[in-house]
Amino acid sequence: MDRRTVLQGTLGGLVGASLAPLARAAASAASATSAASDTPGITHVADKIAVVSGVKDNVLVLSTGEGLLLVDSGSPGYTDALLGALRRLPDGARVRTLINTHWHPDQTGGNEALGKAGALIIAQHKTRDWIATDHYNPEEDRYDKALPKAAWPTQTFYSTGAMTAGGEHIEYGHLLAAHTEGDCYVYLRDSNVLAVGHAASPVRDPQLDWFAGGWLGGRLDSLTLLYKLANDQTKVVPAFGPVVSRSALKAEHDVLQVIYTRMVNYLREGYSAQDMLDAGVMKGLSRTWADPKKFVYDAFKGLWGYQDTLAPNIV
Ligand SMILES: [Zn+2]
Repeated sequence: MDRRTVLQGTLGGLVGASLAPLARAAASAASATSAASDTPGITHVADKIAVVSGVKDNVLVLSTGEGLLLVDSGSPGYTDALLGALRRLPDGARVRTLINTHWHPDQTGGNEALGKAGALIIAQHKTRDWIATDHYNPEEDRYDKALPKAAWPTQTFYSTGAMTAGGEHIEYGHLLAAHTEGDCYVYLRDSNVLAVGHAASPVRDPQLDWFAGGWLGGRLDSLTLLYKLANDQTKVVPAFGPVVSRSALKAEHDVLQVIYTRMVNYLREGYSAQDMLDAGVMKGLSRTWADPKKFVYDAFKGLWGYQDTLAPNIV
């Protein structure tokens, strides 16, 4: 989400994390931030797979029989709530593996607690950089500190990776510039469940973190990649909102393609983001935006990074 709300081994070789240190670490992490009042919900999406919601953004959980595998770790301040929800699941006492779909705080809030308790943390290489490095936050006009070292991914990949956990074949792969520069999907192939992070946003406005490398063209390509990876039975789990089918990926792709085409044409005319809004770039679309101005501004910023590749007559 935006900032405002902002195999090197097999699983069997990993050290499981016991619940007690997890809880202690979580308590200390939670005490430093605002308390979460939401009660997390658990939605079972397949035999061994659940989605924990209400920790701001979704956390996908696979019970492997030898501990849990998580996709994302909830928002800062929600770690106690997340761990409480995990205890209600089979294997809930141990989190062995965490895969971050990207570096945003709502996806990495529990990283430190889980890392301290011994979980392996996997992420795309650039996502690790954002987690591990102080960086400017343009929306708040401030520098945000790197997360503590225990929160850092300990295993990274550039393009794709795979592993097996609890008999489930798990594939993950880079979604180049879909939302940030380091997004990834996580596909639990045997159960046909696909976690897509913020690379798809069927409920809330799609967010393009242009400063971290997300742009409209990258998002279109990523939505196409995800659509091809899935099939009509795939359960697609976005970072926010309910589980959807791959038709939601196509719907988002198609509306963003309309916006992309309009914006490139306007860019050719020298329009600013406000000019594009005034000209109706967000009018007559198949879905509505809560904050069209923010979306157009972010998309516009992203387009400039690729202005030499958008069309032959834009230089
Ligand atoms: Zn995000």
